Amino acid sequence: MSLRAGIVGLPNVGKSTLFNAVVENGKAQAANFPFCTIEPNVGIVAVPDPRLHVLSKLSKSQRAVPASIEFVDIAGLVKGASQGEGLGNKFLSHIREVDSILQVVRCFEDNDIVHVNGKVDPKSDIDVINLELVFSDLDQIEKRLEKLKKGKAKDSQSKVKEEAEKYALEKIQQALMDGKPARSVALNYYEKDAVKHLCLLTMKPIIYVANVAESDLAEPENNPHVNDVKNLASELQSGIVTISAQVESELTELPSEERTEFLKSLGVSESGLGNLIRETYSLLGLRTYFTSGEKESKAWTILAGMTAPQAAGVIHSDFEKGFIRAETVSYDDFVAAGSLAAAREKGLLRSEGKDYVVQEGDVMLFRFNV
Ligand code: GDP
Repeated sequence: MSLRAGIVGLPNVGKSTLFNAVVENGKAQAANFPFCTIEPNVGIVAVPDPRLHVLSKLSKSQRAVPASIEFVDIAGLVKGASQGEGLGNKFLSHIREVDSILQVVRCFEDNDIVHVNGKVDPKSDIDVINLELVFSDLDQIEKRLEKLKKGKAKDSQSKVKEEAEKYALEKIQQALMDGKPARSVALNYYEKDAVKHLCLLTMKPIIYVANVAESDLAEPENNPHVNDVKNLASELQSGIVTISAQVESELTELPSEERTEFLKSLGVSESGLGNLIRETYSLLGLRTYFTSGEKESKAWTILAGMTAPQAAGVIHSDFEKGFIRAETVSYDDFVAAGSLAAAREKGLLRSEGKDYVVQEGDVMLFRFNV
């Protein structure tokens, strides 16, 4: 299971340039993802994590497999998509499957590259896309409410659930009509659960990717468009990352030893993709745990708050179903002991049950029964 982030944006803002850089990056990393079959509109990026290499070395693993994020190219969002313009609703159904949305916003000026609305204007770009997402959600909700009104619930339990869903959808509908995203609506646990199946687009976390010229990379705050995006992102409870799609694309053409030098010459220490991954982790509340043995050391992505069986389920659903217990040691204790066996001898390896909430950096060994 990889996390999926969908790239959207108006035409000519730099989406393909960014997406192609992601694909090239994935090709270079292909050896790290031996079991991935990738569709043409999906690029894969390894989540950089120095801890994985330490574990891999200590366990003398044959290979180290990083966690990954899949970037899905969702081309074709234009004004009117929810009404069937461009790729229209087919496009919107692609976004329903992603965990988060990355909207590329053009912040670079270049008279040779046409802007669909005539000038670089991040606020208008963001408004156009948001409106499409809002319309699409409104459409979904209307259809669903129609259905719920017919009230086909068989038993009292499903009746209660349908009531919760109806109540939640009406609240969301009102917010959307005021131009606010579904994620801005306060919902309790049951309401959230009841509307989850609709995969509402404005419920998904959004990160705005401000695409700047390479000369703005070191001090993006000097670019007024970036400040506009920043202000909007905070208004909309969303994330922001500054990137130069052009630079990301040039980086993929350089041998790895020259990349650091190139980034340094631009006044930055890390590639934009690295920043993007970090922001995604923080916005989505993601955590990493590890498995580590002679065959391989591997990093796994989970949501904050997941229990041991749920975390095991990320590896395989059988691990969750047949979960017995997890032998667990923190990353620091593992490194201090030097190996899993040494950690066990020192009593640092804990046996945890079904209710254990997995902590950032835990090294885990699952016992299960299928
Ligand atoms: P898309 O329609 O959003 O996929 O946009 P593209 O990635 O095809 O980019 C449109 C044009 O803008 C291409 O000619 C890119 O080379 C150019 N472009 C993309 N990013 C940058 C950038 O950061 N600076 C400049 N000057 N041009 C860029």
